[in-house]
Amino acid sequence: MLRTAIAIGLIVATSLASAQDQVVNLYSARHYSTDEALYANFTKTTGIRINRVDADDAGILARLKAEGSASPADVILLVDAARLYKGEVDGLFQPIQSKVLESAIPPQYRGKASAQGTPWFGYSTRARVIVYDKLKVKRDDVESYGLLADPRNKGKVCLRSGSHPYNLSLFGAVTEHLGEQKAEAWLKGIVANMARAPKGGDTDQIKAVGSGECQIAVSNTYYIARLMRSTQADDRALMDKVGIVFPNQSSWGTHVNIAGGAVARHAKNRANAIRFLEYLASPEAQNYFANGNNEWPTVQGVAIDNPALKAMSGGSFKAETIPLSAVGANQTKVQQMLDRVGFK
Ligand code: FE
Repeated sequence: MLRTAIAIGLIVATSLASAQDQVVNLYSARHYSTDEALYANFTKTTGIRINRVDADDAGILARLKAEGSASPADVILLVDAARLYKGEVDGLFQPIQSKVLESAIPPQYRGKASAQGTPWFGYSTRARVIVYDKLKVKRDDVESYGLLADPRNKGKVCLRSGSHPYNLSLFGAVTEHLGEQKAEAWLKGIVANMARAPKGGDTDQIKAVGSGECQIAVSNTYYIARLMRSTQADDRALMDKVGIVFPNQSSWGTHVNIAGGAVARHAKNRANAIRFLEYLASPEAQNYFANGNNEWPTVQGVAIDNPALKAMSGGSFKAETIPLSAVGANQTKVQQMLDRVGFK
């Protein structure tokens, strides 16, 4: 009875609002131009206009905190599992119940559910892999994350900043696997092997391998796929020159990160926010993630036809299985370790 009343209430509220203007306010850390089509399609399908604020994960979390209950944010997209976890534990999201999302997205790609619902959902995954110069480096010498710190790779390694979320999550996962002491020794070994001080993004590291400034780099898979599928001949020539290793296939598996979304704690357009999150789990949206931005969909059974993803992974690979909460909880520890070993 109560449920019916609520449902009718929602319908009334929705139709009143649609007489004016249906909106959803999105704070997004996704930085991929191919997402424009995804957003446009949502608006076309639902009539809900998206007001988007772009910032990085940390910027979005800080902004939500500063705005508090006055925040206009309805829905949030982040591109790192540890930051999703941070938003969850800092109470910046509001748990939701959605049959659509619960049946589409496997439990390992969601935040921890409570009686109120699930705090966030992961929509796509990306692996963090090793890229190397095929002429100068033997594949066996880069087959694990551990080898990034091995003396045989001295002076060869390029990485973006250690404090970037993609690296913090990778290092947080390694810390979970090895323990703090061994992980710190590993980070120290990486610093000793660096060809240059960290700078730039993942694509810059791959290009530095191409230019000969270094021989080994670490990158998220979608940046690699983007270069492989580029219309620029020099991008494709670069990708012919480098090899790609999905590390730790014979041990704990390759580190995989998640991009996901949540309803903001103080969402004013809550129903529209849920509708947006549900849209992201639709086959159409999942296809945008897979074919537009070269990510793996989290929704099972979505057929992906992405030759670059297939070529680099050989079709499938062993991914690490580790609780995201552990990766998230290790971040402060990792940042202190980075400071101690001088990893900028
Ligand atoms: Fe990125």
